Amino acid sequence: HMIDRYAVIGHPISHSKSPLIHGLFAQATGQVLEYTAIDSPVDAFRDTVMAFRAAGGRGANVTLPFKLQAFELATDPSQGARLAGAVNALKFDGDRILAENFDGIGLVNDIIRNQGVSLTGKRVLLCGAGGATRGAILPLAGQGPALIAVANRTAAKAHALKADFAAHVDLQTGGYDDLAGLSFDVVLNATSTGLSQDTLPLPPGVFAPGALAYEMVYGKGLTPFLKQARTAGVARVADGVGMLIEQAAEAFQWWRGVRPDTRPVIERLTVPLV
Ligand code: NDP
Repeated sequence: HMIDRYAVIGHPISHSKSPLIHGLFAQATGQVLEYTAIDSPVDAFRDTVMAFRAAGGRGANVTLPFKLQAFELATDPSQGARLAGAVNALKFDGDRILAENFDGIGLVNDIIRNQGVSLTGKRVLLCGAGGATRGAILPLAGQGPALIAVANRTAAKAHALKADFAAHVDLQTGGYDDLAGLSFDVVLNATSTGLSQDTLPLPPGVFAPGALAYEMVYGKGLTPFLKQARTAGVARVADGVGMLIEQAAEAFQWWRGVRPDTRPVIERLTVPLV
């Protein structure tokens, strides 16, 4: 009788916090399982997944750069995964590969529960038009914001989102120039500039008084985006560690049928942004 195995698959993967997070969840809920990190060759993601499943893998998280390939591999993607075109969690069920994208719900749960910010009636800006933004749109829209805008360096990619999501939400889309004169209650950085240390060309007025500035990248301290927000007078800033832990909780519940308490894990992993 083998122990139930789970893993996060990415490249690189050595710095992933997912094994620690799921280990803490398992301990706290009394679930007996193993959760490891698997570094997959970039050109052999499918083989890596199939080998893990053959070795008794029950499910996996998928991170950069494989979220799109994981969608292609899925036999049963959820509606959210289909709209995002990307998945971050797989569940193996015989020959079927069920797939979900929990990043967006993780983001929303972190904003509401951990940051204590309601999204209802709020003006929300997403910077970036990649997979992270795609995954966030439906969960954000579900909270009844007054407006969701998407700004992207390549404006055409933002406009493409408007069309893709038209049946679900009326997005306002454009480039960063189009933000002149507009302000938002929640400004989310869903670009990879937290890793590259580039600065987004945001007009300072983009942050409404009392705004939340949220950086999806985590573990990098005050990124250029968060510094920009601080300089504009924003008091409430957050990075994506809570989003990571909340999406992990969704995956854990999906796999194990048990909801772990995220609070102690957030307290343990959150580093003050100074
Ligand atoms: P993608 O590669 O799909 O998208 C990257 C986005 O960043 C694009 O919109 C791109 O714009 C923009 N971008 C990159 N460089 C620049 C720049 N110099 N100036 C302006 N825009 C730039 O990435 P993802 O959407 O998958 O992820 C985005 C970030 O979110 C990642 O860094 C990831 O670490 C983080 N993330 C965090 C999660 C968490 O749990 N905390 C979960 C998921 C993601 P363009 O289209 O013009 O190239």
